[in-house]
Amino acid sequence: MKLFTRILITVILTIVSQIGGALYLISIVLIPKKSNSHIFKRASVFVSLYLLFTFLIIPHIAPIFGRVKIEDSKTLESHSFFYKLLNRNYVRPELHDVLITIAEEGRKANKDFKLIYLDANFPFIDNFPLLPHLSHNDGKKIDVTLMYQNKAGVQTNLKPSRSGYGAFVEPNEVEFSQTHFCKENGYWQYDYPKYLTLGTPNDELVFSNDGTKRLLTSILEVEAVGKIFIEQHLKARMSLTNDKLRFQGCGAVRHDDHIHFQIK
Ligand SMILES: [Zn+2]
Repeated sequence: MKLFTRILITVILTIVSQIGGALYLISIVLIPKKSNSHIFKRASVFVSLYLLFTFLIIPHIAPIFGRVKIEDSKTLESHSFFYKLLNRNYVRPELHDVLITIAEEGRKANKDFKLIYLDANFPFIDNFPLLPHLSHNDGKKIDVTLMYQNKAGVQTNLKPSRSGYGAFVEPNEVEFSQTHFCKENGYWQYDYPKYLTLGTPNDELVFSNDGTKRLLTSILEVEAVGKIFIEQHLKARMSLTNDKLRFQGCGAVRHDDHIHFQIK
């Protein structure tokens, strides 16, 4: 039973943070069971090691393996501290340059604009997926948020949901509903990010057609950008046509809560 629990904890920590499982095993080895209050000591060692590696060591090691930590700035920010705490904020240097370019472009039209990112990639190992995204496994992919405005029509950098996922910009009655189509065809998982919001403290915000169109246009203009995933009804609503704008397939999940893009 104890072995099973340890394996389970190791697997979960590895899935959410990549390095957490290995550091958990190291903390078991460092603090033997014989010592008094070993569970408390182990937990302390694990937390200390985890924070040390996450914030001080890995940002320096990752570049050796071809990935860099996204450097937050006035114009580029993680939507939640958890993306940084869980090492989900690494990209290839080329993608980092692209993010800076897009963020600076956004400032030209709106001096308060911030490019807000969600899940990127883990620091190490190609083909190691950053679940639940199967494709975020090579440092070339990232999710960024849509743009919103408040009821007065003023653009804001706030987002409806706490995680940045799961607050959908639903199609209206006349727009094509990809979600309806996919679910009708048996893809039950297509809208499951609705369970991943972690709460919607700003659900009064409305989708900014202009702001999101401007953001998407600046992403499209970057030569290094390959595919972009955005839901069909939003693409039509913003009158955007471009070969880079693709449908991710019913086997994935809906993209009317965020934008996914990747470099070539
Ligand atoms: Zn994505």
